[in-house]
Amino acid sequence: MESSSSSSFIQDGFIHPAETLIKAKNHGFLLRDGSGFRYNMPERLEQVLANYDAVGFDMDHTLCHYNLESLNCILYKLHADFLIGKKGYNPKFLRQSYASGKHFIQKGLILDKQRGNILKISHDHRILRGYHGTNPLGVEELKAIYGSDLKWKELEGFPQKQASSKSPNSYYIFYDFFVVFASLICTRIVDTLDSEAGPQEIYNFWSDVYEGLEYIFSTNGGFYENLLGSPELYIKKSSPAFKSWLQSLNTKHRTKLFLLSNSPMDFVSFLCSYCLGPSWNEHFDIVITDGDKPSFFMSDSNFQIITQDTTETVSKENLTSNIIYSKGNWKDLLYFFNNYSDIPLEKVIYFGDSFLSDIFSPVSNSCCHTAAIVEELQLEGLPDSQDGPWGSFFKDKFAEDSSKEVVPLCYGTICHNATLIIPSLDDLAKDL
Ligand SMILES: [Mg+2]
Repeated sequence: MESSSSSSFIQDGFIHPAETLIKAKNHGFLLRDGSGFRYNMPERLEQVLANYDAVGFDMDHTLCHYNLESLNCILYKLHADFLIGKKGYNPKFLRQSYASGKHFIQKGLILDKQRGNILKISHDHRILRGYHGTNPLGVEELKAIYGSDLKWKELEGFPQKQASSKSPNSYYIFYDFFVVFASLICTRIVDTLDSEAGPQEIYNFWSDVYEGLEYIFSTNGGFYENLLGSPELYIKKSSPAFKSWLQSLNTKHRTKLFLLSNSPMDFVSFLCSYCLGPSWNEHFDIVITDGDKPSFFMSDSNFQIITQDTTETVSKENLTSNIIYSKGNWKDLLYFFNNYSDIPLEKVIYFGDSFLSDIFSPVSNSCCHTAAIVEELQLEGLPDSQDGPWGSFFKDKFAEDSSKEVVPLCYGTICHNATLIIPSLDDLAKDL
């Protein structure tokens, strides 16, 4: 059975399975097997998921997919408007189009806040590439700044340190599709500041950029207004095949399903209604919004029911199905399932796209297995995606030793923690 549906097991690496999947036009998925991954045809997913008692889903970029080009365009515009209009930045570079600079964007890049440099690093924290504005930093320049081994000491302990620490870091990681556009914003701000006053000892623009990120995702910041006003521009409706697949998970195998999203309740209701239809919450045994991942996997926050006028705290004993909750924590969620189900809950898998909140944290806190949605598998099928300043999302080479291929931070973290790697659930369902 297995031999007819799986192939191309690569014992020693994480790089080649991604290429196998890309070459197969993403017709399939990767399943962990020891320290490597095995390529599987789509129809085996059902068999794999039948081993789990409960399956959870993140919403944004996992259950519901965006048109990434339109999403980045509007986020870039709103953010540039904030910086120019409210913070007085020179519009010369920031007003250049998103499209003309989008090759400066990649998930997992790191901003050195004080030096204004953007870095691509390997999974073991060695600097692979660096840019100061749109100017590339050579190997000798990088060594002079970050040390001869090209390991920036500030990154020691990442991602464990990142997940457990609330204190501000000297770096920022562009960790998901809602913030990746901001690496282009930072690139252009550095070009702006350097063109006005020359290179600076210490750059102080990060607090403005961060304030802008908080602003555009606030109630009046423009993001939600644009999405709610013209969802067809930004959001992809789920296919009928995906909706039936979701339904079949529960009915065929009695698998419990839950939705756990960091987005606010109103937005979850809107987006899921748009993508999955008005009865979207019937797919799930429990829905959790405003989940505050990654803290959700380690905190003791109470579940809440929020209405327009009231916030009611709910104890784990009183959690029930068919209610949309906010906040909460993993231990109480498990308690709910064990209480509610006639079969004790032993194996859970959670699908998500954020390599820190959805993939690393649940595994490092021993909560559950994780399935990574990696849209880059589809993006790298495009002819120009591996060119440009940052190269491939999946692999790179050390500047000093081009014979060695290495895995960049984001994909490396996914490979060390995820059990499944999938380009898109919706596309996978079409092949079932
Ligand atoms: Mg997400």
